[in-house]
Amino acid sequence: MFNISSIKSPGPDGYGSTFFKVLWQDIGDEVCRAIGQFFETCIIPEELLNTTLSLVPKVDNPNRAVDYRPIAYDLLLFCKGSLSTVKVLKNVIGEFSSVTGLQINESKSQVYFGGVSAAEKLQKSTELNLSEGSFPLKYLGVPMRPTKWKHEDFLFGLRNYWMSIFVLPQSIIKEVERLCHGFLWGVNGNRSKIHMASWAKVCLPKAYGGLGFRNGQVWNHAILAKYMWEISEKHDLLWVKWINTIYLKGSNFWSYRLPLDTSWYWRKLCKLRGKFSYEDIKAAGLSGKFQSSILYNSALSQQQVGYYQAVWCRLSLPKHRFLLWQVVNAQLLTCDNMLRFRVPLESLLCPVCGSFVESHSHLFFDCTLSKQVLDHIFNWMAFRAWPYEFDSWRTWLSSRNHGFLFHINNMILAAVVYSIWRNRNGCIFDNFSRTATSIASEVKSIIQHRLYIVSKKKLSSQEQRVLTKITM
Ligand SMILES: [Zn+2]
Repeated sequence: MFNISSIKSPGPDGYGSTFFKVLWQDIGDEVCRAIGQFFETCIIPEELLNTTLSLVPKVDNPNRAVDYRPIAYDLLLFCKGSLSTVKVLKNVIGEFSSVTGLQINESKSQVYFGGVSAAEKLQKSTELNLSEGSFPLKYLGVPMRPTKWKHEDFLFGLRNYWMSIFVLPQSIIKEVERLCHGFLWGVNGNRSKIHMASWAKVCLPKAYGGLGFRNGQVWNHAILAKYMWEISEKHDLLWVKWINTIYLKGSNFWSYRLPLDTSWYWRKLCKLRGKFSYEDIKAAGLSGKFQSSILYNSALSQQQVGYYQAVWCRLSLPKHRFLLWQVVNAQLLTCDNMLRFRVPLESLLCPVCGSFVESHSHLFFDCTLSKQVLDHIFNWMAFRAWPYEFDSWRTWLSSRNHGFLFHINNMILAAVVYSIWRNRNGCIFDNFSRTATSIASEVKSIIQHRLYIVSKKKLSSQEQRVLTKITM
């Protein structure tokens, strides 16, 4: 408070900083006590929240509420993009102005569009007599955009937004990760449901065997490393020059000794120096544009996995890919896996055939019903595409060429695995198993539907033959 200039206007309580500075000897203890109490109890005395509201009259003898100028707020109005709707909006604003006397300040207002052509934009902004604004638009500090937010955008987009500005506290990172766990595995009360994959594995890029989520703390540091890169590369930016003049004063950023009485933000940024090597940071900016993902990946000790292309094949449905990823890693909650969590089970036997202990190997390859499903599918495809045994199947996934047939096979495989798993859950929860013929025809119809989209693309004659055969 002693840094606030004495001529600045008073706060909501009506007292300027001079009041406190002059009377500090008398009231200082009481002010500190009140603030301390707030931090301990989260309670502010009601009197401190009382605010004086001044109404400025618009006419000589005001006697109605509309005769005063209310305090104006930022206002967003939404409407459909058609010209007729824009005209209606304009009329409504005009009517509002004639009743209240409030006018739009055209120099401070803008119009934003989503999914509208350039010619139409011009027509509508001319109609409204407003200039066009550009995205991202921030409203109350939150970035907005014209397309719909998805779950992931919410969890990661907003997280990334704040992470690009601050070193987030551990507690916030943990809380966001808790929400991500729940989003991924489902929740049971306040906790996410039982799952096999560790968070560390989930946080690996897909090519390294994970799901491409990111470890909050490492990612936070990798995003902020951009500022270290800009400082050490001495970019021609005003803030970099400022840092160099005020803090570094000619010394090297990497060997610079941090004074004790420096700002909070600068201290946090300098402490990140130990998180990544200068070489890795330099490599992340090699293209001239800093890429945090390169830096993040450089901190990984894992190797890439061979099955990555097969599992994350773009032709497969996203839910099929996710399940296939779990099968390849033997991470589904089959009876043998449940045993590891010490979940009490009535029986460890396969819920489909009831004859063997349920494992990934049994359920997807050895179980009688699954074998029958595969026979149907291979008969339909006119060849046996993948091995019948779990471990050789996993090796096979990693060791093939990546042509058109590769993608078709992956798509069929993912659909088969998904349907077998769904039927297995039906056996447990509905006490009902479908026949191999019915499961196989479900797989066929999913594939035919997916291929209908692919068939629009240009294909070689061999690819066309395969396609005709399986879409028949
Ligand atoms: Zn079985």
